[in-house]
Amino acid sequence: MQHIIDRFLKYVKIDTQSDPNSKTTPSTEKQWLFAEELVEELQEIGLEDVSIDDNAYVMATLPSNIDEEVPVIGFISHFDTSPDFTGTDVNPQIIENYDGKDIVLNALDDIVLSPDYFEDLLQYKGQTLITTDGTTLLGADDKAGITEIVTAMEYLIDNPEIKHGKIRIGFTPDEEIGRGAHHFDVDTFGAEWAYTMDGSQIGELEYENFNAAKAKVGITGKSVHPGYAKNKMVNAISIATEFLEILPPEETPQHTEGRQGFFHVDHLKGEIEHAEFEMIIRDHDAAQFEERKQLLRDITSKLNRIHGDCIVLELEDQYYNMRQRIEPVMHIVGIAKKAMEAVGVAPIIKPIRGGTDGSQLSYMGLPCPNIFAGGHHFHGKYEYVPVESMQKAVEVIVKICELVAANR
Ligand SMILES: [Zn+2]
Repeated sequence: MQHIIDRFLKYVKIDTQSDPNSKTTPSTEKQWLFAEELVEELQEIGLEDVSIDDNAYVMATLPSNIDEEVPVIGFISHFDTSPDFTGTDVNPQIIENYDGKDIVLNALDDIVLSPDYFEDLLQYKGQTLITTDGTTLLGADDKAGITEIVTAMEYLIDNPEIKHGKIRIGFTPDEEIGRGAHHFDVDTFGAEWAYTMDGSQIGELEYENFNAAKAKVGITGKSVHPGYAKNKMVNAISIATEFLEILPPEETPQHTEGRQGFFHVDHLKGEIEHAEFEMIIRDHDAAQFEERKQLLRDITSKLNRIHGDCIVLELEDQYYNMRQRIEPVMHIVGIAKKAMEAVGVAPIIKPIRGGTDGSQLSYMGLPCPNIFAGGHHFHGKYEYVPVESMQKAVEVIVKICELVAANR
């Protein structure tokens, strides 16, 4: 366990925050530093074909130690941390034998990680937790995933009696700004399928995510003196309101869960002459996803007929539900589930209400379910990870490698 802790602490102390406003890859220079350190470490532990490309994507190979041909599989994590909260000078706190009570992260600022608010803490009583000091995020998302993959590869190298096929590992920049998969070279990676180690609590296994689109609606009005405006003024603000009122009021993030989809207006501004709003559209079901987009088109045409072509709708698909790409190869989920059960982890299979790199990779030809990395409350100061969960993730990775070889 100490080995995992040391490796994880070394990783999280390096600031790798990504930046959505940057046009480069990686989006921040500092991600290079971590990527280069990873390359060195992967070489040191004895992996082969260790590479880093022009966009800082790191890949490596654990060669097969059996004669039979078995599918090449991969494990993937991202090394950037969220732009939502600072990752500079992460000062992790280690709570051994957690007693189930409040954890004071920062006495000075009265920042407390409390099971009264975060009930998930209680399932880790007696375990070792790594938390922040209340001033930064932790970066378990997704340096826990990297720790687990590297540790698992090292374990397989040190224990050659465990038989496995060729394993590829890949570490990506800029996942948190939605670009982690963009420059991922699926051909060079050369795996039949892979797993992202980027889920949250122990047991999570995910192969369904939203279909996602964004919409931008621009409305042009006509300003006339309000006292003399009859039949002349076109108030862009009123038309924006009219548009939004047609949307089903119960289909918003705050009213939905599980596989229920939604419209989410996340930006709105307006004057008489111009109003605009932006929204995201999410649905696990492909047909309903199309219906949602069609509804926006229908409202636009209807209001354009009434008010005279004043609305411009821009719709753009963002990503799709990986389920459509995983279903034909469901055995890859079955293997992960079996691996979890074999090491005493109860699988929690549920649809992701978001997207992952894995969904994009699945559409790029690399089917890629998502497995827990162990952390909780990502992207903020309450982020923490139980070391025991990381240890179990290592065991799951090792077991998957073993099962793929044994299934021949
Ligand atoms: Zn992540």
